[in-house]
Amino acid sequence: MALVNENYLKLPGSYLFSEIAKRVEAFKTANPEAEIIRLGIGDVTKPLVPTVVKAMHDAVDEMSVAASFRGYGPEQGYRFLIDQIIENDFRPRGVELEFDEVFVSDGSKSDCGNIGDILGIDNTVAVMDPVYPVYIDTNVMAGRAGSLNEMGYWNNLVYIPCTAENNFVPSLPDKRVDVIYLCFPNNPTGTTLTKDQLKQWVDYALDNQAIILFDAAYEAFITEEDVPHSIYEIEGAKECAIEFRSFSKTAGFTGTRCAYTVVPKQLMAYTAEGAPVSLNKLWNRRQCTKFNGVPYVIQRAAEAVYSEEGKRQVKEVVAYYLENAKLIREGLKEQGLSVVGGVNSPYIWLKTPEGMSSWDFFDFMLTKLNIVGTPGSGFGPSGEGYFRLTAFGTRENCLAAIERIKGAKF
Ligand code: PLP
Repeated sequence: MALVNENYLKLPGSYLFSEIAKRVEAFKTANPEAEIIRLGIGDVTKPLVPTVVKAMHDAVDEMSVAASFRGYGPEQGYRFLIDQIIENDFRPRGVELEFDEVFVSDGSKSDCGNIGDILGIDNTVAVMDPVYPVYIDTNVMAGRAGSLNEMGYWNNLVYIPCTAENNFVPSLPDKRVDVIYLCFPNNPTGTTLTKDQLKQWVDYALDNQAIILFDAAYEAFITEEDVPHSIYEIEGAKECAIEFRSFSKTAGFTGTRCAYTVVPKQLMAYTAEGAPVSLNKLWNRRQCTKFNGVPYVIQRAAEAVYSEEGKRQVKEVVAYYLENAKLIREGLKEQGLSVVGGVNSPYIWLKTPEGMSSWDFFDFMLTKLNIVGTPGSGFGPSGEGYFRLTAFGTRENCLAAIERIKGAKF
């Protein structure tokens, strides 16, 4: 009799987005004339920039000729891309990496999820609350999360609330943890940490032989000076942190798929007997066994993001989304709403007015203003009473949404 991994049975259904779709559908059926503006999804809407498209075309042409055709590539990614990553994303910030510390992949979602393969099952895992759900669900699948209580907490995970009460700055855990997921700029709150604030986490990890899994998928949106772009800007981080980066939001690759993960060679985890083991070696082993690399054409496209023209073009797109974010943020503030995010992030996180629940506010926005956002409670118990809007829509839609919000009585 084949047995299933029963951890999967503990996972609640993906209630959030199906419930949103259900409510939007019901409203549309009852009000077919309503013009609904969707500011809910975390997906880009602008096309790939011309330099990237050209590089893809050229690479396709190479693949069509025997002399330049490529079959399996290196599992870790082609050197031409890794060199550009190191040269552009790290060296200018004073971070030196060796080429075999960077692993190119098909997405940060996969990497954030798969990294658990090389970590022991008995680790105590800390997550911020609210949180990008992948960190939690993949730990549930692995059997590290325990069981879900009626308050929406997994009993073996340590939750670190990030709310208005602590200014969205996570406090160090009051019990010892081994693995810590940090995501900055944050999804869903859009908030960031300063270098000093991030240093406290690096120091905690070093003191406790813990590992930080640092998700920097929204790094390209950082505009403020004191916000670290990489955790490795903090002294000691190479001994305690893995960093995830993605081309998805940086360069509109959500459907194209390319990302990378940095696993420094100094980074160790331990056997039960306390013997240090290189996570770089384990991750390499894991990737070589379970992954066959990102397509050549896609890696050439990612490489083009780092050309002078590519950098200029993707910056323009990010600036467009950031301008959307600013418009939404300011529009909400003018209405007296309490808002964070949208400065170093495409996400705007607002406190629902009058103590409304996240779902009541969702219904209000949908039925009164015909705007779709995401209820904060869908990202964890501490997201209750909050609501997320995204800046990835068109300018036209953002402006129209603001006009509707300005006329609303909250
Ligand atoms: N990490 C965070 C925090 C995200 O919000 C997302 C996507 O929304 C990802 C990772 C996934 O990135 P990718 O498209 O590279 O899989």
